[in-house]
Amino acid sequence: MIDGGDSAKGRVFLKNLEKISIKPKEIKLIILTHGHWDHIGSTAEIKEISGAKAVMHKNEKHWLEKSLKPMPPGVTTWGVIFGKLVTWGLVPFKKIPATDVDIVLGDEEFPLYEYGIAGKVVHTPGHSSGSVSILLDTGEAFVGDLAMNKFPLCLKPGLPILAEDLSQVRKSWQKLLDSGAETIYPAHGEPFSIDVFREELLRNT
Ligand SMILES: [Zn+2]
Ligand SMILES: [Zn+2]
Repeated sequence: MIDGGDSAKGRVFLKNLEKISIKPKEIKLIILTHGHWDHIGSTAEIKEISGAKAVMHKNEKHWLEKSLKPMPPGVTTWGVIFGKLVTWGLVPFKKIPATDVDIVLGDEEFPLYEYGIAGKVVHTPGHSSGSVSILLDTGEAFVGDLAMNKFPLCLKPGLPILAEDLSQVRKSWQKLLDSGAETIYPAHGEPFSIDVFREELLRNT
């Protein structure tokens, strides 16, 4: 499973899992692409339901273990405004139940074969320093917030509007391109072709 979603979603999660005929105990890992509140909020609840292990990069494990809710800075005008709106209007009401990170990732790759998944977790910092992506051997890459493609965040696939380090985001895009990624699945929005990465990187060289 990728990401632990917004907070207090355990019951909805269970219902949706049933719809696609997956039993909670079939989930072995919850790989957290990064530690922002909308990606880790129900991890504690889902861990309890499934018995799965939470997997997270070392730089952000304390966000989940100590219920922290940091927001990345806006890197576009809209990103700055959007970030402030969310920080003032939404984040204060979010409760992130703390839970342990069971498998702590470093900067090296984490293969998933022993869990029955043909792929690996790769460190792709930029949106946050502990951001990771799940890259399958098929070329499908689940990148969390390393890219965005959803209104009101943005109108077309591209760079995140919030990021700790935008130049690092581009380096991580290059890393995924070099590692054979073909289709990008952002956490917010529809999937899109790696060509978007290729074109953006060309524009910036
Ligand atoms: Zn994020
Ligand atoms: Zn997000």
